[in-house]
Amino acid sequence: MAIKHVEEKVDKILKKGQKDSVVAPVRMERDSKFCFACHPGVPCFTDCCRNMNIILTPYDIVRLKNRLGLTSDAFLHLYAEPELLGITMLPVARLKMLEDQDGKCPFVTPEGCQVYTDRPVCCRYYPIGLASLRQQEKTSGEEEEFFFLVKEDHCKGFEEPTEWTVESWRGDQEADLYDRMNREWMELLLRKKSFGEETELPEKARQLFYMVSTNTERFRAYVFESRFLETYVVSEETQKKILEDDVALMQFGFEYLKHAVFGAESDVIAIRQDILDKTVKKIRKRRRKQQARLKRLKMGRK
Ligand code: SF4
Ligand code: SF4
Repeated sequence: MAIKHVEEKVDKILKKGQKDSVVAPVRMERDSKFCFACHPGVPCFTDCCRNMNIILTPYDIVRLKNRLGLTSDAFLHLYAEPELLGITMLPVARLKMLEDQDGKCPFVTPEGCQVYTDRPVCCRYYPIGLASLRQQEKTSGEEEEFFFLVKEDHCKGFEEPTEWTVESWRGDQEADLYDRMNREWMELLLRKKSFGEETELPEKARQLFYMVSTNTERFRAYVFESRFLETYVVSEETQKKILEDDVALMQFGFEYLKHAVFGAESDVIAIRQDILDKTVKKIRKRRRKQQARLKRLKMGRK
């Protein structure tokens, strides 16, 4: 899987950026060094936690709502607003800044981020972004991975003496875990993007995408309390896992969307054969009717 390619897009979609900020990206490798620290001693401490455009990934939401002891419904109501994501036109949740408090993030306090260990992915990666270049001159599919330092003038963290390599910074920020958790979801966004802007998903599909991406309780009820399990084959083992575990359910949700909304094969979910047969029958019947109508129309014209 072209994960690097995905990450380039991911970064574009999720990049931490204040409105009107000037970003000077500097290319880096895993062993490249830089100095940076963000702590209450820096003069700009918490200044950047306002007016941010933070798109919450499904894993961000699971971590945050569990951290705050909230249901997804309550979390979304208090802290998020839906929006259509750029060119994909897929509905996603954005962290709601506090309009009446100078656009502050709801989690920022003078002491720092209240949800630091569970902060969203885009707060986590700063100031290191990940990108890739598809190398035209090499065998198709080969890509070159690189990182970049996002050095913003207002950020005084770069004047601190703490030295990092890209690798040690990413380790400190749990970047690999977040990459892993977000990968399948990002693939879905790219899948939709590849359909082209003009291809709109049906309303029902968009609603499913939003539910799976933002609301584990609703999705769990959808799986276990609707006719879902009469339509799809899901192993007992998977059912047990997703009944209790939000992360397992989230990952199952990505497979479901891949299969049900984007029509791709999945290893963990498949439509039941009898349902499939019925659907095929219905489609054939509809086609036969359409063809007959067309024939009648043509004969009428003659
Ligand atoms: S979640 Fe935390 S780190 Fe991110 S903008 Fe809000 S306060 Fe800042
Ligand atoms: S601007 Fe930089 S140093 Fe200042 S709070 Fe933000 S990330 Fe930390």
